[in-house]
Formats: sequence, C-alpha cells, structure tokens
Amino acid sequence: MSDQVIRQLDQATINQIAAGEVIERPASVAKELIENAIDAGADQIRCEVTTENGEITRIRIVDNGRGMSREDAAIACLPHTTSKLRTLDDLSTIHTMGFRGEALASIGAVSAMMLVTRQKESTSGTRVSIRGGAIDEVAEAGSALGTTVTVDDLFYNTPARKKFQKSLKTELGHLYGIVERIALANPGIGFRLLLNRRGRITTQRSSNKRDTIVGLYGPELARGLIPVSASDGPVQIEGFISPPAISRLEPYQVHLSINRRDIYNRALLNAIREGYGTLLPKDRYPVAFLDLTIDTTLVDVNVHPAKRQVRLDQEQTVTAAVTAMIRAALDEADLLYRPITYH
Ligand code: ADP
Ligand code: MG
Repeated sequence: MSDQVIRQLDQATINQIAAGEVIERPASVAKELIENAIDAGADQIRCEVTTENGEITRIRIVDNGRGMSREDAAIACLPHTTSKLRTLDDLSTIHTMGFRGEALASIGAVSAMMLVTRQKESTSGTRVSIRGGAIDEVAEAGSALGTTVTVDDLFYNTPARKKFQKSLKTELGHLYGIVERIALANPGIGFRLLLNRRGRITTQRSSNKRDTIVGLYGPELARGLIPVSASDGPVQIEGFISPPAISRLEPYQVHLSINRRDIYNRALLNAIREGYGTLLPKDRYPVAFLDLTIDTTLVDVNVHPAKRQVRLDQEQTVTAAVTAMIRAALDEADLLYRPITYH
C-alpha cells in the first residue's frame, strides 16, 4: 500500500476554493464586475438583475469601457491573469480597483458566464463562454463598444454556498448597497441598476458628488449637507457631511472612500464622529459622504480579497487630520440658521 496521501488539487477545484473567498453572494459578482468596468475607463455602467421564483437567476454588467482584444479576452477568464499588476512592488502604487487577477476566473468557476467585448479599433467583437471553470468557446461575435458580462446559474456547482444565501430581499439589499457605494465613490460615472427591466437606481455622471447623492437619496437630504474640502498632511478630504441635527442611530450612512475605493474602517469612522465632538449625542452617527485621497504608499489594500478593508500606515496622523478637518468644516458652517430635521 502506498503511503502517499497528499495530492495536488486539480485546477477546477483550486478555482472553486479561490472563488469562495471573493464570491460570497450575488452582490460580490456585481462588485467585481463593476470594478472591472471602472478599471476599463467606462463612464456608463448598467447592472441588470433578473429574478425568478424568489431567486436571483441572472446578473449582467454592461459597460462602455475600452473592451478587450480577442487574445486578451481568451485569457482574462483564467486564474491569476491581470493587466493591472506585474510584480508585488506595483501594489504600493496601485490605482486600479483590481489587481489580483481572480474575479473573472472565480465567477466563471461557480457559474455559467458569458463575456462579450469589443475594442474601438476592431469591427467585430469576441464572445467567451465558460461554465464551471471550463471555457466552452471563444468566438467572433457582434458587440457594442465595451464589455458585457452575463452570469447565470450562480453557485450551481457549489451547493453548500448556495444554501447559505439569504432571502431574495436580503441578497437584493446587498446588491443595491454595493451599487450605491460604488456610485458614491465614482460620481464621474453614470450608474443604472435594473431589476427585471425596471429601473431601481439611477445616477447621472457628474463632476459634483451632490448630484449622485440627490440621485440616490433625494434632494431633501442633499440640500442640508455641509461641504468639506480640505487637506492636512498626507490626507486630502472632499465631500459632504450632515449638520448635527441630522444623525442616525447606526453608521449606515457614513460612506467613505480612499482613493476612489469604498472602504470600511472603524478608526476613520471614529475620527469622523470625533470631529463632531459634543455636537452629536454619544449614541448617534452623522451622515457623511467623504472621499479621502491618501498617498498610495500609505494604504495597503491587499488585506482581504474583497478589498473593503485597508491597512493604513501612519493611522494616527490620518485619523487626527480627518477629525481636525471635520471640526473645521462644522465650525465654518452656519449651524445656527439651519432648520432642524428629525429622522
Ligand atoms: P483584475 O481585475 O484583478 O485584473 P479580473 O479577473 O477581474 O482581474 O480581470 C482580468 C483582466 O481582464 C483585467 O486585468 C482586465 O485586463 C480584463 N478585464 C476584465 N473585465 C474587463 C472589462 N469590463 N473591460 C475591459 N477589460 C476587462
Ligand atoms: Mg477585477
């Protein structure tokens, strides 16, 4: 009898395991595909969601970005293929949303995925179909400029993951949340989310984030917000915060991006609250839509596959700067004359 019990896993299994880290639920598919569209320079991105019998059956992302050549399209869906990173050193200066080269391969490993793409220079496009990690075909196809990725049968071959999906309402909630957060971090891109062909979220591309906020949450909230625009040491901050009279019991409307990436960071959340000092009761959170620009060498985004967490070098300096800039913006605002609204 052989003593050897260790075997190398086959590639399909490796991909499925990797997919488990990035593709947790339908919203992760939308997030990864939308980030790819942003990296491709799109300024219009549409997310079409189809449901049937209480389940999400299809997610399609359509972009008007730069597309891919046939050669690139054929390998883009393989594991660890990326145009965004060459060596680990590049990571410290990364300006793209992606860099792991894993999303397309991961999604393709746990679904039936079809990618159709065309570049400006070519008259015909390319279609790549992949199911359960196996590429079915790479063929010439008619295509609009840009890229469309259609994902059907998500998790059909990973029943455990499929079982963990929550109710349709919860999964759609995550999906809407992703689109909203990415839209807020990218006002220069017009976003549309359609559920069964009906428009649910629309933002117009604009140079002013206030337009994005109006598109998502209506003019009333947007009107009361206080603009913030300042820089302090290594941090530049742009965006809007609520006057103290508008606050929430949970921090769900504190939207924060670093270098255009929507992130969650407890220390920064606290830093924002601290800027309000005693203006806010202890158990309340402000509404905030803030974009931080920080030298990329001070931000480590390679902490978690979903990249929503970041590690900050000089965290103390950054949080102190944020607190000071929030406080200054509130000091400048004419708070006394603002009408108080309760939510
Ligand atoms: P990553 O984004 O980390 O590079 P992905 O698996 O998400 O890895 O994508 C692999 C590559 O495919 C990208 O680096 C990019 O060159 C190409 N690509 C993916 N999506 C698009 C798109 N929507 N438009 C143009 N190119 C794309
Ligand atoms: Mg990507």
